[in-house]
Amino acid sequence: MGDKLNDYNKKRDFRKTKEPQGKSGKRDGKLRFVVHHHAAQNDHFDFRLEWEGVMPSWVIPKGPSFDPGDKRLAIKVEDHPLDYRNFEGTIPEDEYGGGTVMIWDEGTWQPQDDAAAGSGIKEGELKFTLEGERLTGKWVLIKMHGKASNGGKNWLLIKEKDKHAKADADLSGYRTSVRTGRTMKEISEESPKGS
Ligand code: MN
Repeated sequence: MGDKLNDYNKKRDFRKTKEPQGKSGKRDGKLRFVVHHHAAQNDHFDFRLEWEGVMPSWVIPKGPSFDPGDKRLAIKVEDHPLDYRNFEGTIPEDEYGGGTVMIWDEGTWQPQDDAAAGSGIKEGELKFTLEGERLTGKWVLIKMHGKASNGGKNWLLIKEKDKHAKADADLSGYRTSVRTGRTMKEISEESPKGS
């Protein structure tokens, strides 16, 4: 189980960042998800779904869209620890992923087909439902094919048509943390804690 987080641990110096060390966790009821807004060198969103004690993760450069007509690039990255869903704060500038991280959305998720979810995450097709504060309803994550796949890293996150879909994909109204209500600026001004 711990092997899944080797890449995560290798990329980070835990003497310098307040991000949690990579240990796999235990499922506690429903499966969790978190979306981080990450003001790194390139502003982006990170989409993380709990699965088998870790959080498979995708970087979404433009963020999710409520519009089923928008296919949002989602780049698969290293699995993150389950504890990461509680991380909100600033990663030092010189460290991996340096910048401020906000808990932009969180809640629970459910695969459309439980038995197929594991292979879907591996092979590149996952249909699921989100019950978050901002993201709700049916979604699909699908791996791109051919040259566009970038060695299998490039997926698309697409909202499926349902009553939660919206034609307006503008995310600019969502500027605060769903966990703490803080803006990016307020999080970045928090006094450094820990070592
Ligand atoms: Mn990130």
